[in-house]
Amino acid sequence: MYIILGPPGAGKGTLSEYLVEKTGIRHISTGDVLRDRMKKGDAFAKKIKALLDRGELLDNETINSMMLELMQSLKDDFVLFDGYPRKMGQATFIDEHFKVTGVIFVTCPDELIVKRLSSRRICPKCGRVYNLITMPPKEDNLCDVCKVKLIQRDDDKPDAVKRRLELYHKETQPLYDYYNNKGLLKEVDSSKPLNDFLEEGLRVFNSFNK
Ligand code: AMP
Repeated sequence: MYIILGPPGAGKGTLSEYLVEKTGIRHISTGDVLRDRMKKGDAFAKKIKALLDRGELLDNETINSMMLELMQSLKDDFVLFDGYPRKMGQATFIDEHFKVTGVIFVTCPDELIVKRLSSRRICPKCGRVYNLITMPPKEDNLCDVCKVKLIQRDDDKPDAVKRRLELYHKETQPLYDYYNNKGLLKEVDSSKPLNDFLEEGLRVFNSFNK
């Protein structure tokens, strides 16, 4: 299995989609898994929503058992984890249960992240992601496919973004050294033009298998 790590809004999802298209890898984003789970509307869904809207992280136990269950149901390890691990206790859990082949660390300065997240919009129906500056929809504020009005994720609003960045630096950034020391990590800079970022990401991904 492969892991894509980096700050929120750095472009992990965008690069993941590109790698799916080019290599056929299965992409599992914990954020998407959680947002999907939220649709059930039960007590657990409400708990997830409250945490996500504030930009807080779920506890390791919940995330680890959700991901283990999901992986056991797939029986396939050509998988790209996006947004997992986000804390050391998740990285050690992964090592106990799976074999990590490579880790792509997407880098991006905080100022650019804040700018990107504040202009990110999503389609509430299909989940397609747009950016009002770099990847705008064809018609003003409407999803190109569903023609539904785009929305801003609650956790892309300024207070939640601030909290997500704080937690990223405290909890997730230490994973850089963890995987670098194991010789598994390669960096990709997402502050460069989109196509260059995607091509570099694909090149790095392919280099793990050589
Ligand atoms: P994302 O779509 O990757 O930005 O994730 C959205 C939100 O889901 C995060 O801000 C967290 O609240 C939660 N989340 C996603 N992945 C994890 C994880 N591995 N551990 C804890 N919380 C997570």
